[in-house]
Amino acid sequence: EQAREVVREHMRRNQPEIVEFEAQQVLKAYGLPTPQTVLARSSDEAVAAAEEIGYPVVLKIASPDISHKSDVGGVKVNLWNATEVMKTFKSITAKAQRMRRDAYIAGCLVQEMAPPGVKEVIIGFKRDEEFGPMLMFGLGGIYVEIMKDISFKLAPLSRQDSFEIVREIKSYMLLKGLKGEKPVNFTALEEIIMVMSRLAIDLPEVWEAEFNPVLVNHERAIVADVRMTLH
Ligand code: ADP
Ligand code: MG
Repeated sequence: EQAREVVREHMRRNQPEIVEFEAQQVLKAYGLPTPQTVLARSSDEAVAAAEEIGYPVVLKIASPDISHKSDVGGVKVNLWNATEVMKTFKSITAKAQRMRRDAYIAGCLVQEMAPPGVKEVIIGFKRDEEFGPMLMFGLGGIYVEIMKDISFKLAPLSRQDSFEIVREIKSYMLLKGLKGEKPVNFTALEEIIMVMSRLAIDLPEVWEAEFNPVLVNHERAIVADVRMTLH
């Protein structure tokens, strides 16, 4: 119901895109695992949030008008102290405002940083006029565009479907681990895929959605970015 409210609110405001800081509520409503995240409206609030979360942290631009945050230099990872957080808050918000004059900047998200060695995957769906929501799974990060290594299945997915979809990509071996590396937590990924499938069924106004990246290692998987597009 909380998720519906976020969607309805965007429809009312005629805003076709739900960006990360607004979609946090949707993630929470579905019980998805997320990095600890706080919206900071000033550099002081950002430092307080970072101290609370614990270093290192990630800072991300929070604006309803900016959906691809990196395009405006809006994501900085690996910040280790209050001085860095303070400076980065100021530089990120200033740069974003310079690049997008008309954008409303709410502040920055301060986010727990995933440990080194996590792998990036994408979980998403797109609606097909004819067939309905198509779930997709693939490697994330820089590989998405280069490798086009993605597998699809029609929602709603069964447990078996979610088991298969993660094993159908060519880079499955990378997730299983190379040279004595531990395999990623596939069960955790499959659970997120099942939730995404449910979300596609529950929220028909959402035309497409993307968790990019989901960060996964042998222990857990967390949804570190999300974007949804409405009809
Ligand atoms: P964008 O809007 O540009 O897609 P993201 O939130 O996806 O912004 O961040 C860009 C990249 O930064 C991610 O693909 C990932 O590599 C890294 N990143 C984002 N959040 C985290 C995090 N919490 N921990 C570690 N790395 C992160
Ligand atoms: Mg992203």
